[in-house]
Amino acid sequence: MKVELVGYTPDTEDLPSLAAKLTHSKATFEDIKQSAPEKNRALLSHVMGLGHLSVVEHTNFTFAISGVSRALTHQLVRHRIASYSQQSQRYVRLDEPSYVTPPSIKENPELKKKYDELVSLIWKKYNELIGSGIPKEDSRYVLPNATTTNILVTMNARSLLNFFSLRCCTTAQWEIRNLAWRMLKLVKAVAPTIFENAGPPCKSEGKCPENKKDCPLYPKKKEKE
Ligand SMILES: Cc1cc2nc3c(=O)[nH]c(=O)nc-3n(C[C@H](O)[C@H](O)[C@H](O)COP(=O)(O)OP(=O)(O)OC[C@H]3O[C@@H](n4cnc5c(N)ncnc54)[C@H](O)[C@@H]3O)c2cc1C
Repeated sequence: MKVELVGYTPDTEDLPSLAAKLTHSKATFEDIKQSAPEKNRALLSHVMGLGHLSVVEHTNFTFAISGVSRALTHQLVRHRIASYSQQSQRYVRLDEPSYVTPPSIKENPELKKKYDELVSLIWKKYNELIGSGIPKEDSRYVLPNATTTNILVTMNARSLLNFFSLRCCTTAQWEIRNLAWRMLKLVKAVAPTIFENAGPPCKSEGKCPENKKDCPLYPKKKEKE
């Protein structure tokens, strides 16, 4: 899996900070933008803490994601408040096997061998179908969920906060969880105020909605002084 932050709103926390200021001021945006936006970071934190999250919808982030499975991207595109451009299996012929192997299979050499053999056979049949004149868009029906794909994703910060809450959690599957934590690290580096408390609910809200006490991230009780 490769994940890159390939674009984001310039001065990424300025607009949300100014938006926060606008909601708390008699002045127009023209006047407000003269004030140093970095001075408004504390106000941004404050309004976000109140759940006033529309202010962070003004900033966007674009990620180039490659080498992930179609199983992952099917989960990813369920996040509707986003824009996607994905490699097409209708237009692109995937001649060579390229697929993700789940760790649970990787760690068992015997099963891994069977898995690899099956995927090779599937690809052989895929190429045979195309060779017999079946269009790529129809031949692809035999390809597995494991098939790798490349996707470009743009989300605003509010949608990302929701995405991290759902997909950084241990209830999410390992592959999309891995992706979510990587994306979080990338945006935190450029928007530390907005994403300060981002992550699974145990981090963002200090509580586990599933009360999963065996989870390694389960909030620990504060030690008595
Ligand atoms: C652990 C886990 C297991 C899952 N298992 C399944 C499963 O078995 N089957 C399955 O189908 N899906 C499953 N999902 C997908 C899940 O139901 C959501 O579709 C997905 O996580 C996208 O979340 P979202 O709707 O919050 O995001 P977005 O689509 O980005 O929406 C963001 C927010 O906008 C609001 N919103 C968006 N659209 C609407 C709307 N039409 N009406 C009202 N409010 C809206 C909601 O507040 C929503 O939270 C699973 C997700 C997770 C994290």
